[in-house]
Amino acid sequence: MRVVVVGAGVGGLAAAGLLVDRGHDVEVHERADAPRETGAAFNLWSGGTAILADLGIPLDGLGTTLDTIENRSWDGRLLGRIDLAAATRRFGTPQLCVRRLDLARRLAARLPDGTVTFRSACVGVTPRERSAVVRLADGTTARGDVVVGADGGRSVVRRGILDAGEPRPTGWATWQGMMPAPPGAELVRAGFFMVGREGLAGMFDAGGGTVQWWFDRRWTPEEPAPESVVADLRSRFGRWADPVPALLDRIGDDDVSLYPHHGHPVTRSWGRGRVTLLGDAAHLMPPTAGQGANQALEDAWVLARTLDDADDVPGALRAYERRRARRARLASRVAVRESANRYRPRRARMLPDVVGTAMFVRWLRFLSDRLHEPDSGRTRS
Ligand SMILES: Cc1cc2nc3c(=O)[nH]c(=O)nc-3n(C[C@H](O)[C@H](O)[C@H](O)COP(=O)(O)OP(=O)(O)OC[C@H]3O[C@@H](n4cnc5c(N)ncnc54)[C@H](O)[C@@H]3O)c2cc1C
Repeated sequence: MRVVVVGAGVGGLAAAGLLVDRGHDVEVHERADAPRETGAAFNLWSGGTAILADLGIPLDGLGTTLDTIENRSWDGRLLGRIDLAAATRRFGTPQLCVRRLDLARRLAARLPDGTVTFRSACVGVTPRERSAVVRLADGTTARGDVVVGADGGRSVVRRGILDAGEPRPTGWATWQGMMPAPPGAELVRAGFFMVGREGLAGMFDAGGGTVQWWFDRRWTPEEPAPESVVADLRSRFGRWADPVPALLDRIGDDDVSLYPHHGHPVTRSWGRGRVTLLGDAAHLMPPTAGQGANQALEDAWVLARTLDDADDVPGALRAYERRRARRARLASRVAVRESANRYRPRRARMLPDVVGTAMFVRWLRFLSDRLHEPDSGRTRS
């Protein structure tokens, strides 16, 4: 089958790899000049890393394996510790903090030469009876038996096939970056987040002595931009316990990127005819639950398998969407509530770590189609 993928983010590149492996003829059109660099790093859980392993992507050096995450209050009190290594033992694939650019490069490098065309923006899509056509900004078209819109939260493909409205702001935003670990944050295979009235601060080991850090706080698009982003963050988070002040002392305005939080309502299916969506194009969600990229990989994995020997291609695409919508909707609902960012001092009591860990491991499995596969749970080296 000829498959045209729009967008070379983590979802589009993974889908391309999985589809090529299953014998399809794939072309990817990407608007940007090169693999995207923004977003620093993100977390992939066992389902996502199992899919990377299926793709033959070496996980060594891709980021850091995370063994623990601590939940702390703004004044430094430990509220709970999740044993991520337990999830790694349970599923056989690790929890990783991955540098976004490194992952995009590895996913792109395993594709046949010429699969990805950069500077090739989709401006529209037309589903036809026996094919689907992507219109490109240079006036040319790309025709496929299937078109996959993997073009992110502001998807052109989505707008062309669904009347589901624009992404809705949740009233929160993330300020994020990566830097050498500040004093007090020399994390080894570990991360933490701290929560208080002002919002949430987090840091994760990103490998090589660097940390991925972020602040979440309430924000609306109408809010005037502060003169200095870092001064604004300092005025809100500067009195928090270490290592937050040390981090704020070391960053400059150029080190910080702003990501407003948005979410899509996740519809039961998200395609039309031979056109479908995956990843943020299908179900944009805020980063609060650390699930967007994981769900994009899950989409890619289910989509590729659903197209195996599909006689009724539109029917197969709707089956893929229905299968994924259930889990993606759950992840999205939790993320859109932004509950991880809300400080509830009365409810911030210690949950026994063993219970918190067990709940987290179950949650990872709930959200993953890959981890429901019979071979999941066997240890991979
Ligand atoms: C601050 C932050 C932290 C996050 N942390 C995590 C985390 O810890 N774990 C997690 O799982 N997720 C996390 N996420 C979410 C994750 O980054 C996204 O869900 C994921 O990148 C979605 O992948 P995608 O391939 O669907 O879309 P994208 O990565 O957005 O890729 C879409 C691609 O399509 C291209 N494109 C767009 N329009 C067009 C067009 N018209 N024509 C051609 N190409 C086009 C874009 O240039 C881009 O390359 C985080 C997000 C943010 C902002």
